[in-house]
Amino acid sequence: MNADPVRSILIVGGGTAGWMAAALLARRLERQPISITVVESPDIGTVGVGEATVPAIRDYFRAIGVTDYEVMKATQGTLKLGVEFRDWAGPGSSFFHPFGLYGTSSRGVAFHQYWLKRRAEGDASPLADYSLCTELAMRHHVMTPPDNPPNELGVFDWAVQFDAGLYARFLRDKATRELGVKHIEGLIVDTSLAPESGNIASVTLGDGRVLEADLFVDCSGFRSLLLGGALGVGYQDWIDWLPCDRAVAIPSEPDGSLAPFTRSTALPAGWQWRIPLQHRVGNGYVYSSRHISDDEAVAALRANLEGAALAEPHLLRFRTGHRDRFWHRNCVALGLAAGFLEPLESTSITLIQSGVERLLALFPNQHFDPALAEEFNRITMLEYARIRDFLILHYYGNGRIGEPMWDACRALDLPEALAHKIRMFRSRGTMVRYEWESFQDPSWLSMFVGLGMLPDAYDPLADHFSGEQLEGAMLRMREAIAKTVALSTPHAEFIDRHCANRQG
Ligand SMILES: Cc1cc2nc3c(=O)[nH]c(=O)nc-3n(C[C@H](O)[C@H](O)[C@H](O)COP(=O)(O)OP(=O)(O)OC[C@H]3O[C@@H](n4cnc5c(N)ncnc54)[C@H](O)[C@@H]3O)c2cc1C
Repeated sequence: MNADPVRSILIVGGGTAGWMAAALLARRLERQPISITVVESPDIGTVGVGEATVPAIRDYFRAIGVTDYEVMKATQGTLKLGVEFRDWAGPGSSFFHPFGLYGTSSRGVAFHQYWLKRRAEGDASPLADYSLCTELAMRHHVMTPPDNPPNELGVFDWAVQFDAGLYARFLRDKATRELGVKHIEGLIVDTSLAPESGNIASVTLGDGRVLEADLFVDCSGFRSLLLGGALGVGYQDWIDWLPCDRAVAIPSEPDGSLAPFTRSTALPAGWQWRIPLQHRVGNGYVYSSRHISDDEAVAALRANLEGAALAEPHLLRFRTGHRDRFWHRNCVALGLAAGFLEPLESTSITLIQSGVERLLALFPNQHFDPALAEEFNRITMLEYARIRDFLILHYYGNGRIGEPMWDACRALDLPEALAHKIRMFRSRGTMVRYEWESFQDPSWLSMFVGLGMLPDAYDPLADHFSGEQLEGAMLRMREAIAKTVALSTPHAEFIDRHCANRQG
C-alpha cells in the first residue's frame, strides 16, 4: 500500500467535463478506497454545446465499458468521418478533412509524394480520390472501420456527433448507477484554502453544506471557480492568432440527408458549423466580435439554416487560450475551466479525455509532489499549442481575398513551430512531426492541399517509379476504393440498423 493515498475526489461541475472525468476516474480507481463526488448547480447549467468529436473518443468509450452504438442510441448520435470545409480556400471551394489515410506508401515514401510527382507530370486526379473515408463521406455512406485492414487504403476511423445534454446525462447515469459516483446538487458560494499548504480544503454550498476532499477537479466551465477563482491562476489569451471570440447556436429540424460529417462553412466574419444528429441539426456561427455584431451574426445564421429553427439563438462568449497552469496544488482543471480552443476541429472533448488519462497516469498521493503537476502542465501545454497551430493553419491558409478578417489572417505572424512546418511542406511536401500532436500527417496534408498550399517540388525518392508505373498503381488504388465503397451502407440506414433513438 502506498503511503498517504488520496481518499476523496471532489469534481466541481456536471457538464461534459465533470461527468467524463467522474466515469473514467471511477472505472480506473474502482479497486481503490477512494470516494468520488460530483457537485453541480442546476441553477447555473452547462454550456449546452459541444456536439462533435474526433475518433479518440472511441478509446474513452472502451475505457468506461460502453460501445459507440450505446452512446449514439442514448444521445441521438450520428457518425462523423471528418469535416467538410466549404468556402475556406475561396468562395465556392470545398474539401474534406477525413479521419483516414490517403493512398498507400511505398519504399518508405509517403503516398502524397507520388501524387505530387504525378501532378507535376500533368495527372489532375485530386488527392481526395485516394481516400476511402472521403469517398464514403461524400456519398453519405459508412462502414465499420476494419480492425486489421489488408493495406493502408482501408485505414480510416470514425468519431461520433451527439446531443451534448444527453451525453452528460448518459455519463451521469453510468457513473452514479454503475460506478459508485456520488452526486450532489448545490451552488458553491465559497472555497476555503488550507492556511499552510495553500491547498483547497473545502467548498461551501449555498445551503451551508461544506464539502471537503483531498483532490479537487475543477470542471466548472468558463468560470474556472477553483483554479482561476480560488487559486488565482492566470489565463493566456490567443486572440491574436485565433480571431473568433463569440458564437451563436440555433438547432434546426433535420432535413433527412444525415451526412456522416461536420460541415464548416467560412463566412465573412468567421465560420458556420452544421452537425446533423438524429433528432435535429446543430448549427452555429463562430465569429469575431471585431468584425460583426451579435445581431448581424444571429441574422446571418438564421438566413443560412436549412430547416426550421427549433429554439431561440444561444449566444456564447469565449476567450481562446488556456490557464497558465492546469494542475496547481491539489486542483486539476479539465474542460472549459482549463482552457478553450475554438470548435473548428472539435477538440475540447478530446482534451478532457486526455486530461483525465494524464491525471491517472500521474496520480498523486496526499503530498502532491509538484513534479507530477509540472509534468502534467508541460505536456498539456504542448498539446494545446499543437492543436492551436493546426487551427491557425486553417485561418492562415484561407483564400478569401478582400474580407478584412480573412486578409488579416493571411498576414498573421505565425508561431515558429507552425512556420517551420509550413516551410518544410512548401519546399517539397515534407511533413514535420512534433511531440504531443493530436492531428497526424494525413490531417495536416488534407489542410495543406485543401487550402491550396502546395509544395514547389516533391521528394526525389519518388522518382524510383516511372510516371507510367505510378499511373497504373494509382488507377488500381482508385479501383480498390470504388470496390470497397460499393460494399458500404447509407448512413441513415446504418443508424437505423444499429443505434436509432426512436424517442426524438
Ligand atoms: C460555441 C462552442 C462550440 C463547441 N463545440 C464543441 C464541439 O463541437 N466539440 C467539442 O469537443 N467541444 C466543443 N465545445 C466545447 C465543449 O462544449 C466543452 O468542452 C464541454 O461541453 C465541456 O464543458 P464543461 O463541462 O467544461 O463546462 P460546462 O458545460 O459549462 O459545465 C460547467 C458545470 O459547472 C457547474 N458550476 C459552475 N459554477 C458552479 C457553482 N458555483 N456551483 C456549482 N456548480 C457550478 C455547472 O452547474 C455545470 O454543471 C464547444 C464550445 C463552445 C463554446
